[in-house]
Amino acid sequence: MTKHTSHEIDIVKSETSKIDAVDFENLTFGRIFTDHMFICDFENNAWQTPKITPYQPMTMDPSARVFHYGQAVFEGMKAYKDADGKIWMFRPEDNYNRINKSAARLAMPEFPREYFFEGITKLLQMDSEWIKTGKGNSLYLRPFIIATDPAISASPSENYRFMIICSPAKAYYTSKIKVLVAEKFSRSANGGVGFAKAAGNYAAQFYPTSLAQKRGFQQIIWTDADTHEKLEEAGTMNVFFRINDTLITAPISDRILDGVTRRSIIQLAQDNGIEVDVRPITVTELKKAAKAGSLKEIFGAGTAAVISAISAFEHLEELYELPNIENSYADTLKDKMLNIQHNLAEDKHGWRYGV
Ligand code: PMP
Repeated sequence: MTKHTSHEIDIVKSETSKIDAVDFENLTFGRIFTDHMFICDFENNAWQTPKITPYQPMTMDPSARVFHYGQAVFEGMKAYKDADGKIWMFRPEDNYNRINKSAARLAMPEFPREYFFEGITKLLQMDSEWIKTGKGNSLYLRPFIIATDPAISASPSENYRFMIICSPAKAYYTSKIKVLVAEKFSRSANGGVGFAKAAGNYAAQFYPTSLAQKRGFQQIIWTDADTHEKLEEAGTMNVFFRINDTLITAPISDRILDGVTRRSIIQLAQDNGIEVDVRPITVTELKKAAKAGSLKEIFGAGTAAVISAISAFEHLEELYELPNIENSYADTLKDKMLNIQHNLAEDKHGWRYGV
């Protein structure tokens, strides 16, 4: 292994690459990881010199707080390669800000900006072969922070590990999905951690989602914990409703994740003359619109799938099917997003970040 230092990062390069064994046409999301990973430890009250090493398992004390109290936050972002081989990211500043917002809520230290951006840049340069050109191809980046203190007392850790691992991805959720509107379970509450990308938020969704999946639904539309009336998120995506020609999405709150895709879709819709209404929307209103025929589309928006169109929803054992429409907002806006992300369209808002 060759070891050298780049700015402030200690680098140990992998001697071999796993890339030749990877079938890039048949990728299961999040199963395959690139040759390298980024690590930075927080010890003695300071972030230490970051490292890039070959991707490998790591050892950790069984008492590490992350295993017991779930003190962990993460991010999800993508890198793309254009036809000229240049690597781009999409609004990474937003992910950087969000991981620190999540960390603060979980009583974790803020991660330094220069380490975040230098780490990503170096990692992407080293694993650039793993980013394939072509619309829909991307490299999914998973930055995360875990509490590493070897002590099982229920209090914040003094030591942490920040890491970035990368996984090649193709667009997923290609077909439309059927969703169940939550009547009993909820993913977040007022004053809680719903707005944070806290690991436990996702663990808490698995059981209700698995019940829904057994009944043939791919995801749950989460409703507010008090009344189960307000429609808030779709699985791990923000959710949009098109009633007549207006696009409606719930306002961000401490129960809802401030999605980068959501924010971008709102802007792109407005840029294209689509009226966007950011306001609470209820199940009652949705069902009324579905019955009246004014409900045209529902879609989820998030980094992984960009936009995931929804074909039907169930509430109180009644199924409401959506019409199949031409030139849907979902298709139009997804295409516009992908074109910006892949450097195929003008980037009016300066969202692309060249690596
Ligand atoms: N809501 C939740 C709960 C999520 O986990 C995600 C994925 N990060 C989103 C919404 C979409 O956020 P983004 O567009 O930033 O990926």
